[in-house]
Amino acid sequence: MLRLRSIAEIPSGLPTPVVLVPTMGSLHEGHRALIRRAREIAGEAGSVLVSIFVNPLQFDRPADLEAYPRAVESDLAICEQLGVDTVFFPEPTDFFAADHSIAVSEDLLSKPLCGATRPGHFEGVCTVVLKLFNVLTPTDALFGKKDYQQLAIIRRLVRDLALPVKIHGLETIRESDGLALSSRNLNLTAIQRADAPRLRRALLAARDLRINGEQRSEVYLETARLLLLQNAPEDLKIDYLQLVDRESLQLLANVTGNALLAAALYYDEVRLIDNIEI
Ligand code: AMP
Repeated sequence: MLRLRSIAEIPSGLPTPVVLVPTMGSLHEGHRALIRRAREIAGEAGSVLVSIFVNPLQFDRPADLEAYPRAVESDLAICEQLGVDTVFFPEPTDFFAADHSIAVSEDLLSKPLCGATRPGHFEGVCTVVLKLFNVLTPTDALFGKKDYQQLAIIRRLVRDLALPVKIHGLETIRESDGLALSSRNLNLTAIQRADAPRLRRALLAARDLRINGEQRSEVYLETARLLLLQNAPEDLKIDYLQLVDRESLQLLANVTGNALLAAALYYDEVRLIDNIEI
């Protein structure tokens, strides 16, 4: 396995297809699923690349960046074990010049959901993903539907800038109690961790309203909100709970076509997100 610590070390002409899994590390079963799928797409002859980079541009709160878990040694061992060909794990100072001054912004899909409460987040995501695509020149890249808005924005980035990369979206991998796997789960206390599956339960209960033909968004939102807050610990806060169109991500007053119910919660400083297709 090739271990690249800087842009200068990236070789050209890797065997194609070159399939990239961008991550921020602290790899868990969700990342493993993406890497396994990358291997399937690359085949034996192609190349699987994993990038591990805690991207400072996409953190709107310095404390969140500071607290983000890091585990490079065990991440490298996981990549090795999964047959990854190349891992790219640059230092932030290598990847972005101290005076870098160009960014990529998206002005429509990034307005609701996470974009509304995390100013600059998706600009940071788009900028780092475009740069990763430029330096690693993948033919394919994989992203998880857990970060549904991110996936939609990356597809838009590729479409609008005509990037020669095929984007693949993968289903969310969950713990047995329904909690979506996330590197941030490591920062939950035992009590918060035990409570956290309420997020999935609330979204499932709201989704089930569709079976009876419910169309009013406010009924979905109220059902989910009640379950998110019922007997909730004091340190739980709803960051957002929104029902949007699955393609445009714009808020829906009525559910008639393909909708997405998405939420973010805080347990103290730890932020968890999840979503469900309705
Ligand atoms: P992150 O390291 O959190 O930036 O995530 C890297 C990639 O893994 C992103 O495309 C995420 O959407 C994806 N991912 C994170 N958690 C999960 C999960 N539980 N299931 C599937 N994909 C995930």
